Amino acid sequence: MVATLYINGAWRQASDGGAHDVHSPHDQSVVAEVSQATQSDVLDAISAARESFDSGVFTSWSFNERSALVAKIADLLERDADLIARKESDDTGKRFIEAQYDLADVIATFRHFAALGLKEHGRSVDVGLAHVTSRIVHEPLGVASLIGPWNYPLLQIAWKVAPALVAGCSFIVKPSELTPQSAIALMRIIEEAGTPKGVANLILGPGSVVGTSLINDPRVDLVSFTGGLSTGQTIMRAAADTVKKLALELGGKNPHIIFADADIDAAIDNAVTAAFLHSGQVCSAGTRLIVERSIHDRVVNEIVRRAGNIVLGGPSDEMAETGPLISPDHLRNVTAYVEKGIAEGAKLLVGGKRSDKPEHENGWYYLPTVLDGCSSQMYCVQEESFGPVMTVEVFDSEVDAIRIGNDTNFGLSGGVWSSDSQKAARVASALRHGTIWVNDFGPYRPAAEWGGYKQSGIGRELGEHGLGEYLEIKHIWTNNAPSRSGWFRD
Ligand code: NAD
Repeated sequence: MVATLYINGAWRQASDGGAHDVHSPHDQSVVAEVSQATQSDVLDAISAARESFDSGVFTSWSFNERSALVAKIADLLERDADLIARKESDDTGKRFIEAQYDLADVIATFRHFAALGLKEHGRSVDVGLAHVTSRIVHEPLGVASLIGPWNYPLLQIAWKVAPALVAGCSFIVKPSELTPQSAIALMRIIEEAGTPKGVANLILGPGSVVGTSLINDPRVDLVSFTGGLSTGQTIMRAAADTVKKLALELGGKNPHIIFADADIDAAIDNAVTAAFLHSGQVCSAGTRLIVERSIHDRVVNEIVRRAGNIVLGGPSDEMAETGPLISPDHLRNVTAYVEKGIAEGAKLLVGGKRSDKPEHENGWYYLPTVLDGCSSQMYCVQEESFGPVMTVEVFDSEVDAIRIGNDTNFGLSGGVWSSDSQKAARVASALRHGTIWVNDFGPYRPAAEWGGYKQSGIGRELGEHGLGEYLEIKHIWTNNAPSRSGWFRD
């Protein structure tokens, strides 16, 4: 029997003993067995979080004390980084070295929020009255449900857990059922670091089973969710009854615009990385290439050549450049997406099928794929595949490029390549997406806010706003010379 639920400061089995296997996307081998929570376990976790919050056991700590806790968690993560990276690589099928990079980002996230907690919080307001003191204070928001996806399992959870701890919230973490191991490891570290009982809780299992109470329960004040658009919409509807605060990080179909005056070699290389890194299972993947007509053939021919050479392989394959898709369901979805694109009139230039290499036979490997001749009206341009699929459109002018780049319901990220800095700045300013890279694609830093315009989400993670999501703002007006209001007659 496995005991991998962490509730009210104790590790325990599911109340009905339920458990499930986690399978490697590389070869379907079983990499872990974890508990699968029941509804009563979820309610216990919410009770523990609510009681710990209301007791003041953690909210009474100062920002400085909570920052020190988060810094200690960063130290312990550093100590265990390779062990956790191995688990994450097993769960996701990504190469061990990529999981190591992700762990470095996780640690940087905890360090960022630990430092942010040390800053001055709140401010005085000049209300124009000498006898009044007016203060804006920041208080912990309450109990938070923190729900994460499978593509960067620990990193996406870290963006929520680190600020929640600095703010003084109590919370329930629910990682994706496909990739639970690194969240278990994080929770062991949170316990070791000395977090008070009941503040941090871990629930495991499919969102359709354990998710409902995490959203509906009136004792939960905030839901911070990273995942797909349709799940985000379901959560938003379910949260309406109790008017919960929501922080949503959803999908993207991100435009990557290349002008003819760009450094073409660098642009092509970055376009390949932007679309095919982690086999496109990246919310900010640059899978929508928008290229100036005069350089279309040069750019696309080279991208196709490069895509065809990408080496696929599993966690410990040192020659591999990217790995498998996460699951058979996802492989089916990506396959159907490409078929639909071709049926809509897109021209398949490379890929478009599962890898037929014998060593990939038991894994969910899909070849890097380029669909040319696309336009904004197509499903494959508007919807996210979350796989290694690049769609290609052409433009003829700056205005055209901006119009196409904004012709989407998503608004997570985008890139623009040009050697004309003024033109690049104009396009960056006109694109309605949460992050824009100029002559680059993909880098981010914990100190800079991350999040989406339009249907890519609500709110921001990271930066300073990423802490603000977990804080309530209170105005305290103190009259130091009380007197009658004098409004109504005696
Ligand atoms: P998903 O929406 O299927 O699942 C995300 C999480 O929600 C999982 O833990 C799942 O168990 C849970 N869940 C599912 N149904 C639920 C419900 N009814 N109630 C509560 N929880 C529920 O997403 P995924 O497939 O795990 O992740 C891929 C998606 O995540 C992509 O669309 C990607 O763009 C997005 N994503 C966005 C960002 C960002 O920063 N904007 C980052 C990473 C991933």
